[in-house]
Amino acid sequence: MNYTTLPKNELETLKAKLTKQYNKYKDLGLSLDLSRGKPGKKQLDMLEGMLGVISDSADCMSEAGIDCRNYGLLEGIPEAQRIFSALYNVPTENIIVAGNSSLNLMYDAVARCMLYGVYGGNGPWVKQGTVKFLCPAPGYDRHFAICESLGIEMITIDMLPTGPDMDAVEKYVSADPMIKGIWCCPKYSNPEGITYSDDTVRRLAALKPASPDFRIFWDNAYIVHDLYPDRHDELLDIYEEAKKHNNEDLIFFFASTSKISFPGSGVAMFAASENNLSQIKPIMNIQTIGFDKINQIRHVKYFKNVDNIRKHMMKLADLIRPKFEMTLQILNEELGDTGIADWTNPNGGYFISLNVLDGCAKRAYDLAKDAGVKLTPAGATFPYGNDPRNRNIRIAPTYPSDEELVAAMEVFVCCVKLAAIEKLLG
Ligand code: PMP
Repeated sequence: MNYTTLPKNELETLKAKLTKQYNKYKDLGLSLDLSRGKPGKKQLDMLEGMLGVISDSADCMSEAGIDCRNYGLLEGIPEAQRIFSALYNVPTENIIVAGNSSLNLMYDAVARCMLYGVYGGNGPWVKQGTVKFLCPAPGYDRHFAICESLGIEMITIDMLPTGPDMDAVEKYVSADPMIKGIWCCPKYSNPEGITYSDDTVRRLAALKPASPDFRIFWDNAYIVHDLYPDRHDELLDIYEEAKKHNNEDLIFFFASTSKISFPGSGVAMFAASENNLSQIKPIMNIQTIGFDKINQIRHVKYFKNVDNIRKHMMKLADLIRPKFEMTLQILNEELGDTGIADWTNPNGGYFISLNVLDGCAKRAYDLAKDAGVKLTPAGATFPYGNDPRNRNIRIAPTYPSDEELVAAMEVFVCCVKLAAIEKLLG
C-alpha cells in the first residue's frame, strides 16, 4: 500500500491503528540498541584463541629478535607491517603500525596538520585562516566530529552511488586553497555501504588542489568486510592511480582491525608516502616512543597471514549476514511498497542506511527513542548533525541478538510509518 497516494480518511484510520500498536510497544518498557557499529558477543567469542596466544616472554619475541615488551620501533614490528602491507597493498616501508584505534590516528593527523602543517605545504593550517574540509555525506559522524572539534569548516558533498560527487569535489579542491582535506571511507562506506567506483578513485587520485596542503583522508575501515561469499565489491588501488599523477603525497591512509579482531583492542595502521612520513615520523616520535607491540605480535601470531584474516572475516560474515538479512526482510515487508522509505542493501560493511520521507527522520528517531529503541541520532550522518532533508537514519544491526534485532526493527518501522503519516496529514 502506497501511503503517499492514500486519501486522508484512510491515512487517519491507519494512523489510529499504528498509534495503538506503538503504545503497546511503549508499554513493554523495551531497551534496545541499533545505534553503534559494534560486533555482537558471538563475533568476539570467535577470537577466544587470540587471548591465549601470548602467555610468556618467549611469545613476545619478534622474528628478528625484537623484544616486544620493551620500547622501540615507532613504525611497529616488521611482521605486522608485512601483514598490513599484504592486506592493503601498500609497501611495508610506507606503513606505521600503531596503537588500538585508527580514529585516534585520524584525529592526530588532522591536529598535526593544524599545528605543524604537511610536507611541502604552507605551514600550520591554523595560521592560514579558516580551514575547510569536504565531507561526503551521509558519512561517518566521528570524522565530522574531528572537524567540528578542531574548528574546521565542513562542506557537505553529496554521496552518489559511485562515491562522492566528483564534479563538486574537483570544483572545490581546485578553486579554494583553504580546502585542506576530504574524508573518504572508500569501501563499504559508513553508513551506506557504497564502494567508490573506479572512475571516482581515478579522479580523486588525479586531483589538482589549489593548495599544496590538501590531503585525502582515506579511511579504509571496511576493506575485508564482505558480507557474502559470492558477492563483493572491488576497490581500485588509489596509490597505483596516484602514482600516475605524481600524487602519492596527497594520500593519508588509515585502517584498523577493530571490526576484524577486538574493537578498542585491535591494531591500527597509518600509511603515507616517503615524503609525508619524513615530516610526520619526527613529530609522532615526540608524541610517543612507540605503540603497543605486544598487541601487534598477538595479532600476528594469531592470524599469521592475510589468508587467515580473510577466512576469519567469512566466519564473522556468517554470523552477521543473517542480521542484515533479517533487517532487510523487515524493511521489505513493512515498508517495501509504502513509498515512504528506501534503503541500501550493501555487499559489506556494518550498516544499512535508510532514507525516510523528507522531514521525517528526527520524528521517527524520537518516536523510537520514546519506545525504548536507540538509533544513531537522526542528522548524525551529516556535518554539524544537520541533514538538510532530515531523512537519513543509520541502522547498525550487528550488536543486538537476533531476537532483540527483530523486536527493535518492528518498533522502528512502526515509528517510520507514524512519522510519515503525520507528515502526509500535514
Ligand atoms: N572509520 C570508520 C569508517 C568507522 O566506521 C570506524 C568505526 N569502527 C572507525 C573508523 C573507528 O575505527 P577504530 O576503532 O580503529 O578507531
